[in-house]
This record gives sequence, structure tokens and C-alpha cells, in this order.
Amino acid sequence: MKKKQNKFGKLPSGPANIIIFVLLLLGGIFMLSKIADNVKETGEIPYSEYLNLVEQDKIKKINVIGTFVSGVTKDEKSFETNVAEYPGHWDLLRKHNVEFAIINQSNQFSMWHILFIILLIAGFAVMWYFFKPSSNTGSGGGGNIFTMGKSKAKMFLPSAIKEKFSSVAGAHEAKEELEDMVDFLKNPEKYKRLGAKITRGALLVGEPGNGKTLLARAVAGEANCPFFSISGSDFIEVFVGVGASRVRDLFAQARKHAPSIIFIDEIDAVGRHRSAGGVGGGNDEREQTLNQLLTEMDGFEVGKDPVIVLAATNRPDVLDKALLRPGRFDRRVEVPYPDLASRVQILTLHAQTVQISDDVDMKKIARGTPGFSGADLANLINEATIIASKGNKEKVTIQDFEEARDKILLGKEIKTIVLTQKDREITAYHEAGHALVRLMMPNVMDPLHKVTIVPRGRALGVTHSMPEREKYNRNKEEMIASIKAALGGRVAEEIVFNELSTGAYSDFLTATDIVRDIVCRYGMTDELGPIVYSQKQGDFVYSQKTAEKIDEKVRQIIDTCYAETKDLLMAHKDKLTALSVALLDKETMYAREIYELLNIESREDHKFE
Ligand code: ADP
Ligand code: ZN
Repeated sequence: MKKKQNKFGKLPSGPANIIIFVLLLLGGIFMLSKIADNVKETGEIPYSEYLNLVEQDKIKKINVIGTFVSGVTKDEKSFETNVAEYPGHWDLLRKHNVEFAIINQSNQFSMWHILFIILLIAGFAVMWYFFKPSSNTGSGGGGNIFTMGKSKAKMFLPSAIKEKFSSVAGAHEAKEELEDMVDFLKNPEKYKRLGAKITRGALLVGEPGNGKTLLARAVAGEANCPFFSISGSDFIEVFVGVGASRVRDLFAQARKHAPSIIFIDEIDAVGRHRSAGGVGGGNDEREQTLNQLLTEMDGFEVGKDPVIVLAATNRPDVLDKALLRPGRFDRRVEVPYPDLASRVQILTLHAQTVQISDDVDMKKIARGTPGFSGADLANLINEATIIASKGNKEKVTIQDFEEARDKILLGKEIKTIVLTQKDREITAYHEAGHALVRLMMPNVMDPLHKVTIVPRGRALGVTHSMPEREKYNRNKEEMIASIKAALGGRVAEEIVFNELSTGAYSDFLTATDIVRDIVCRYGMTDELGPIVYSQKQGDFVYSQKTAEKIDEKVRQIIDTCYAETKDLLMAHKDKLTALSVALLDKETMYAREIYELLNIESREDHKFE
């Protein structure tokens, strides 16, 4: 961000906010100190001394508040004291010609109270005035980026947008889909001529970090048009009506600067299905905001003032259907996790600005990072560079990448964690169990990459495998093998120690998820048939009887897998022990070492280097 400017009315909204708060705070402190001053500047004297002073005619004037007395002496010294309530007090004062005033306790600081309240109200009024959303606000030229006070959106002028399609590595399909929009923004006349109905909105669907924002900005960069960016959650406020007027304001701005792009991140925050319920009490507000959004999108005229709305979400399933109707977000652009080839491209792109050692092969790194998002990959390069810098290296090496990846995968390495020898042994057998099950099913399992019992993050150990290719489709056999690999850890523990630990929880989660998919999603069992049994918003869409059948089948599959895994590991107990012992010694073992140790036919070399 280069420059922040604001051209709305008299006061800049962001700073105004702060200024008003500071003023209010100072005012409050000032008044409190005033109140405190009235009481504290004076010296407190004993009641007896006070009575003496009165009787010696030394007091000029007092104020009485209940039993509290403050006053000044004739030689202009102030004092205060607490008096007993006795009826003769007033007579005594009259007798000695003391001027006295009795102040009603509850009204004591009423003037300050009133002032304070007035100031507070005034402060809020001023704030409301500046934040009150309304249309017809303009943003002028000058800077490149504006924070739009009323809509909360940020506006980027074309000169502030550096992204082009070439800044997005991989994501070919997404870019292809968006190219039309770029053309439309550049040449609206061309489309108007034939009356084409060009999409006004596209939904970018994908997990965080996969480049949705990047793509949206690249569209603006390619079309060389202003970019308005806001997050769905920014629309939602406690005050009903604010969201709707923010939407109105945003679209008014965008039209004024047309051709332009509006990017709404996390649209699910406003666009949730209307009956799906919201967070807190913001339901009315959310609906109003959503309705306004729909109205604005319907209000576009093709060809004139082209404004394209791109919205990002990773929860397209919760979106209100009305949003997806023609003329609204009727185009869906998938922005998935990058596949192998895309990962190579993303890594290469981000590595351009970094000194990287010649022995680093981005392809190998890409192979070792399945499931990494674009952001994760950018982070990987960055982490590796930091690690290399810390070691005062000239260039980033393959070891730095290894370390960086492990760090990203599982949180920072905690070598200091205190584990008992028993814990380490259990972990070693547990991981050896996972690894061995995989090794014993080479046809259906991905090749092993490495096994470690160095604790990282919350995991005591990890067994990595390295997919040979991207898997878009898995068969039942592979899924069953994955269940067994997941159960392998616990099975090994049981075989060797004959006791159960809590370390297998996440393995069971993995196994259970796969079994549920087999039964309920992919129709892979005879008993339940080719039917999808799903839950919608907590309601079962199948009968209680079916639920019981599902539970039974899930249990049966898990039990069978468990028994078969046990047989498998029992048959290779010597290997299990050998691997565990070696792991206890080395802590981390790569596939090659394991093949050698166990005398298993080597598959590919799966290390980066
Ligand atoms: P999202 O909006 O989907 O959460 P972002 O667009 O904010 O993801 O991506 C975060 C960062 O990750 C980007 O700024 C960029 O550095 C990197 N990144 C993600 N996808 C890609 C990609 N396809 N090519 C290059 N960099 C990417
Ligand atoms: Zn495990």
C-alpha cells in the first residue's frame, strides 16, 4: 500500500474516529480529575480540630455534604473533615458566623455528569455523522488507494495494481475462465453490439491461500481498471441497515469508476442461505445486506458502466441460492489446491527473487508438498530463505527446504520436549507400524518418504509418504489400504506393548472418515448400496434404521481392517522391531535408509535431493 487518502467531506473518517475518541477520553479524564481535585487539594483534619476552629471563630465558610465538610479558614486555608450528625451543628455554625451551604448529596457532581453525558452524546453524534452510510460520496484522484469511509471498501487505482495473469502460476482453468471478463471490461462495446449477456459476477471457490484474491487482482491488472476490495464480514454491523447502505455505497462508487471490479472476499459472511441462521443476532441485518447486494447486481445494465463482481468463498454450499441465479454469481471458477505441475510453477515463480542453490530441484520439492496451497508454497520459499540466512549461507539449500517444510507442516520443531524413554519407544513402534503397513502394500500405497519420531507441534511423530502422481480418483482397495495404514500405528503398539495409548486419536479420525466415505458417499458396500447418505444441517436425511445399518457397517469394516493389519504386522514383527530400533537411534529416517535396513525392494528415491 502506498498512500492512503480520503476525500470524504470535512474530516478524514479513519483519523476522525480516533480524534473523537481521544477527545472524549481526555474530556472524561479531565472531568474526573476536576471532581477529584475538589476533594483532594485540601488537608483533612480531625473532627475535634474542626470543632475547635469553629469555636475559635477561625472558619470563614464551609460546604456540607451529608457528614462531609469542606471549607476554608479565615486565613484562606482549605480543609475537610467528617462530622457527626448532630442537630446542634447548625446552631454552632450560626453562633460563630460561619457561612455554610448544604449540598444535596445526590446532586453533588450532577453538573459534571450532565456535561459528560452531553459530550458523550455529541461525540457519538459526530461519529455517526461521519460513518453514517450514504450514497453520493465521491472519491477523487490523487493517491492510488483509498479507504472508503462509508463502504469500508478499499479502492485501488490501476496504477496501484501490479498483478497480472503472469503473477498467478498454475491455475490455468481459472485464468481461462476469467479471461472473458477481462475482455468484457476492456471492450464493453463489443459485447453490447450483439447484446451479449456477459456475466456480471463470478464466484471464486477454493480453500484459503490458493490465490483467489490474487486472481481477482490480476483481472483488474489485466483490464487496467479500478479494483474495489471488501470482505463480506465488513458489511455486517450491529446496526441494522448499515450493511445494506455499505453495499449501496460500494456499488455507487464502482459504477462511478466503471469499468471496474468489485471483489468481495468471504462472501459467505453475508451470502449465507437465509434460513441457515447467523452468528449472534445479526440475522435481520445480514438479510437486508444480502437483499441489497442482490438488488445492486440486478441493477446492472450490460454494456453501460461495466462493473464485474468477483466474490471468494470456500463454502459455496452455504450460499443463498438467490446469489447464484443468472445475472448474479452465475459463473463459478474453481481455485483448487495446486497440482504437481502448478506447484512447480508457483515455487519457481516465488523463488525468482531468492538466491537458490543449484542442487535444489523445484520438481522434487513440489512432489514433497502435496496439499500445500499457493500461500503455503510462497511461505515455504520464505521460511527456507530465513533458515538459510540464519545459517549465514550464500544460497538456500535443499536442507533448508526440508526444514522449512517440516516447520510449516507441523509447527516449529520442539527438540526440548521432555519425553520419557517409554514415550519414545511407543512412538517409534507406532510410526514404524504406519510405515511398515505402507511398505507391505506397495501396489496401493504411495511410496514412503520419511519417518520421524522427532516431536513437532502436537504430533509425537510422523510418517510421510510421497504421492507418485496426483490422485483424482481412488478405488476402494486404495481406500481400505489407507485405513490399514492409519490403524497401523495403534496395532503396532498393541502387538508390542499390549497396552493402549491416546496417541492414535487422529489416526482413528482419518480411518473413520475414510470408512464413512466408503459407506455413505461412494456407495461401495453391498449392504448400503449406491446411495449417498448425508446429513444436512444436522438433520439426517435417512432413517434411524439406516443409521443403525451404517454404524454397523462402519464398525465391521474397521474391525476387519484392524484384524488384517494385525495379521500383517505380526507376520513381519522382525521388521517392525528392526525399524523401531533404528528409529529410536536415528529419530528421522528417509525411505532409502528404510529400504536398505529392511531389505525391501526400493521404489523411487523420494528425498528432495
Ligand atoms: P486466497 O484469496 O485464495 O485466500 P490469496 O490470493 O490471498 O489466497 O493468496 C495468498 C498468497 O499466496 C498470494 O499473495 C501469493 O503470494 C500466493 N499464491 C497463491 N496462489 C498462487 C499462485 N497460483 N501463484 C502464485 N502465487 C500464489
Ligand atoms: Zn499415528
